[in-house]
Amino acid sequence: MKKEILIATHNAHKKEEIQQILGENFTVTSLTDYDIHDEIVEDGNSFHANALIKAQYCFDTTGKPSLGDDSGLVVEALDGRPGIYSARYAGDHDFAKNMAKVLEELEGVENRKAYFVTVMCLVDETGTNYFEGRVYGNLTKEVRGEKGFGYDPIFIPENYEITFAEMKAEDKNKISHRKKAIEQFLEFMEK
Ligand code: IMP
Repeated sequence: MKKEILIATHNAHKKEEIQQILGENFTVTSLTDYDIHDEIVEDGNSFHANALIKAQYCFDTTGKPSLGDDSGLVVEALDGRPGIYSARYAGDHDFAKNMAKVLEELEGVENRKAYFVTVMCLVDETGTNYFEGRVYGNLTKEVRGEKGFGYDPIFIPENYEITFAEMKAEDKNKISHRKKAIEQFLEFMEK
């Protein structure tokens, strides 16, 4: 029998991406499929805590194995900021403002090291499991590229000379933090 995984999202693209990776032995569903429209309050103080909040909410509501995720940019010279506040560092999902704030805080700072991280949390009847993916790199001094979203235009992954926003989506998706976390999850599910 196919195993169902409920993804704590309304994002059809995220659901589809995970369905493709997991393959036909799994049925991937989302909050939209369950007609759940509540806003899940992500007030945890870590990526792990926020991923758990989302997964636990879905599991408690539906009883189905549920996957929550949380991502962000972690900058070494900023003591880990924007971190869990990545989406609303300067303005809520205002990518330009958020990038400008990071660049401003790094003005004159030599250490440009940063990484993107995704933490996924699976809650089911057996308990709670976490999966994590990271991609390391350096931040630029100016915005470069039009593709992607979020902090992509200021992030150059290790061993590359272009930003995530200058890369083809398929190239970014091969090395991204999200890809690595999903791979960990898949490995776990296949066991
Ligand atoms: P979420 O938890 O996946 O919604 O990500 C939270 C925030 O982190 C986003 O709004 C972006 O600002 C940032 N972020 C996460 N993943 C990426 C990425 O792949 N590129 C650029 N920014 C990202």
